[in-house]
Amino acid sequence: MVRPGQKTKNKKYRKTPSGESKVYFERDRHGKASCALCGNTLAGVPRQDEVKKLSKTERRPSTMFAGTLCNKCRSTVLEEAIKVKHNIKSMQDCKVKMRSYIEQALKLLE
Ligand SMILES: [Zn+2]
Repeated sequence: MVRPGQKTKNKKYRKTPSGESKVYFERDRHGKASCALCGNTLAGVPRQDEVKKLSKTERRPSTMFAGTLCNKCRSTVLEEAIKVKHNIKSMQDCKVKMRSYIEQALKLLE
């Protein structure tokens, strides 16, 4: 039976190991890109299904961490990286989630 919520999704048939075919609904994976730290939607990043149609420069902005972090998180990560670099702050005082990005920023800042 098709429930109203399933009508718009892609209906697909797949055979189970027992030989029986079952209906399943493909999940839409082409959502908007979101920030890895705060989850905000990213500006200037097209949806995944549109990427192939676009030229290289239209695919993502060219800033550091573009397509991964939003502008707010990028600037905080860079601020923290600079503080760590000049020994104002230690890596242990930074948020655990941010640490890997701060390490990446430190490499780029060298
Ligand atoms: Zn963010």
